[in-house]
Amino acid sequence: MNINTHLATMPAGYLFAEVAKRVKAYQAENPQSSLLRLGIGDVTRPLCRAAVDAMKKAADEMGTFEGFHGYGPDFGYDFLIDAIIAGDYTARGIDIGRDEVFISDGAKTDVGNLQELFAADARIAVTDPVYPVYVDSNAMAGRLGTYQGGKWSNLIYLPTNAENGFVPPLPREKADVIYLCYPNNPTGTVLTKDQLKVFVDYALANDSLIIFDAAYKAFITDDSIPRSIYEVPGARQCAIECCSFSKTAGFTGTRCAYTVIPRDLAFSGGNFNKMWGRRQATKMNGVSYPVQRAAAAVYSPEGQEQIMESIRYYHENARVIREGLQKAGVGVYGGVHSPYVWMKTPGDMKSWDFFDLLLRKANVVGTPGEGFGPCGEGYFRLTAFNTLENTRAAVERVVKVL
Ligand code: PLP
Repeated sequence: MNINTHLATMPAGYLFAEVAKRVKAYQAENPQSSLLRLGIGDVTRPLCRAAVDAMKKAADEMGTFEGFHGYGPDFGYDFLIDAIIAGDYTARGIDIGRDEVFISDGAKTDVGNLQELFAADARIAVTDPVYPVYVDSNAMAGRLGTYQGGKWSNLIYLPTNAENGFVPPLPREKADVIYLCYPNNPTGTVLTKDQLKVFVDYALANDSLIIFDAAYKAFITDDSIPRSIYEVPGARQCAIECCSFSKTAGFTGTRCAYTVIPRDLAFSGGNFNKMWGRRQATKMNGVSYPVQRAAAAVYSPEGQEQIMESIRYYHENARVIREGLQKAGVGVYGGVHSPYVWMKTPGDMKSWDFFDLLLRKANVVGTPGEGFGPCGEGYFRLTAFNTLENTRAAVERVVKVL
């Protein structure tokens, strides 16, 4: 039988595997070394009390005849959808309906699956560097051509770097789909409403779709920075938004997220809200009742206070990294509305060489920028997901090496 050759010939997802391999080899040679890890994008603080209590209560309900829940509604329980709409949209003056929110087990799942809405020859654009799921999911579906010299032949790259202030240029050729992630992984940078509007206007003029990944919106500290693309006029006619409880509320191991698709969003006569509903109802059976109860509890006043405590903790870590490196004269970006700090490598060092230098001389593990795309070369990502003590110690060690 014929197989999906696009999937079979995918380049290995080498970034974190290669990081782990080099760390393991170093530890085997230097068993006494004490490594500090500022590399991983997983949260380190526990679930908030409100979510844990709601999950326990829901688990108890599940053990009774009256409170048992089998398969839930295909797109999520109304109690969670209503909490999302009230907490994340109505509160910011955005009108979103119940029929426009789809609950899922992860933003990774959704941003990976959304490409099923597009034709096989749809032209895709991504910012570079980029969260790899947007690229790989389209490559597996055969949309990106061949992979050579670290680039896909049929992918439109929108370089973001210090030279353009991390504001991506518009595609020079027509893109059918543009993936945007703000606050950005990996650069930690944000776009203003006016900068985002440039993309919305492009999409409206070119009949393009924007997939807006807002997984890190909870880290935004300035009210003028858009937390949702629907704050930009016209976005309802051209954008899908993916959000997650992972970084907002520490749900990376608990799994709950949601995607918003406006009910009138349509391309070539296809209604994307209806198409996605059809797809989801066919291929998934929802998120468990206790997890949806836990997610809803995040919007309670206690839940909000508790998750903000963790976000403030990560913000402080990011500040320590940012200011420590700035004092040492390093070019530092992001880390204000984001748990990610993106630094320029010293003397334009290759990002993997800098990785090795920090590993060996500072015993600090970060992530080489090149792993996120060609324009990540010469940059390095450090994350706020550690303890404050370890973060301080790691920054001191990095500064010493610099
Ligand atoms: N989107 C971005 C930009 C991410 O960085 C991540 C996780 O690191 C995700 C989505 C995944 O979110 P989830 O845990 O909801 O699958």
